[in-house]
Amino acid sequence: MSGILYLVPTPIGNLGDISPRMAEALAQADFIAAEDTRVSVKLLNHLGIKKPMVSYYRHNTSTSGPAILERLLAGESCALVTDAGTPAISDPGEELVALCAQAGVEVVSIPGPCALVAALAASGQPTGRFTFEGFLAMNKKNRRRHLESLRGEERTMIFYEAPHKLPATLADLAETFGPDRPVSLCRELTKLHEEIIRTTLGEAAERYQTEPPKGEFVLVVRGAEPREEPEATLEDGLDRVRALREEEGLSLRDAVKRAAKELGLSRNELYRLAVED
Ligand code: SAM
Repeated sequence: MSGILYLVPTPIGNLGDISPRMAEALAQADFIAAEDTRVSVKLLNHLGIKKPMVSYYRHNTSTSGPAILERLLAGESCALVTDAGTPAISDPGEELVALCAQAGVEVVSIPGPCALVAALAASGQPTGRFTFEGFLAMNKKNRRRHLESLRGEERTMIFYEAPHKLPATLADLAETFGPDRPVSLCRELTKLHEEIIRTTLGEAAERYQTEPPKGEFVLVVRGAEPREEPEATLEDGLDRVRALREEEGLSLRDAVKRAAKELGLSRNELYRLAVED
């Protein structure tokens, strides 16, 4: 019987966010796979846990992943942690989870700290529909393509960014979505200097051109205003009925039924008009 891969989130700044379930998963796993063992050992020391560790980071996933899978298949259980936050979210883990899923190894996700969720919830932007965009690429062409694909996006958009790249990213976002677009800059979440700056992309870009940003940021950008679809009139309905009758040979009743459905019109009103046409 194979073991279980536990995805164990770790605090994004505040050790008070360690939950009993996270600590239990770390204490009970046979071994821990960590993005940076030097970072994770501090957390383990804080919890008084001693465990064998292996490293699993961005540049060794293709060798370390199969080695971890082999141990899981042999019956060991593994707790995967990253430097901060939820594994597999803009952090190593995605490929390992896919490997486990393919091999039929159980994956248990322990809910916990995740910067994007904390930021969105407190952003003041609409939360009903959102899209997580992670980090924008450094490569100019890929970055442009990514931003272009979001130009008409109506959902709230969430981006991660490193402080030294923040000024350039804000300038690119302001250029793509316009300087008046609302943004919430969620900074140093769960830490001493936690702050949510609710402003516009233009103002934020200007501010950080002169003031070097400090700390970690999540950007929550308001989506585009929904486009108003022009409402169809009964005249449009009549045109469509005529076309359906001529081109598809539909009966008056069937043509009215189709046209009314396609254009969101009242079938009775359209029929009344169409019989007199
Ligand atoms: N897996 C992590 C998670 O669940 O949030 C994200 C890891 S990603 C490599 C790191 C990015 O997350 C940072 O560049 C920043 O955008 C965001 N982040 C992490 N901790 C944060 C915090 N305390 N406050 C604001 N943003 C944070």
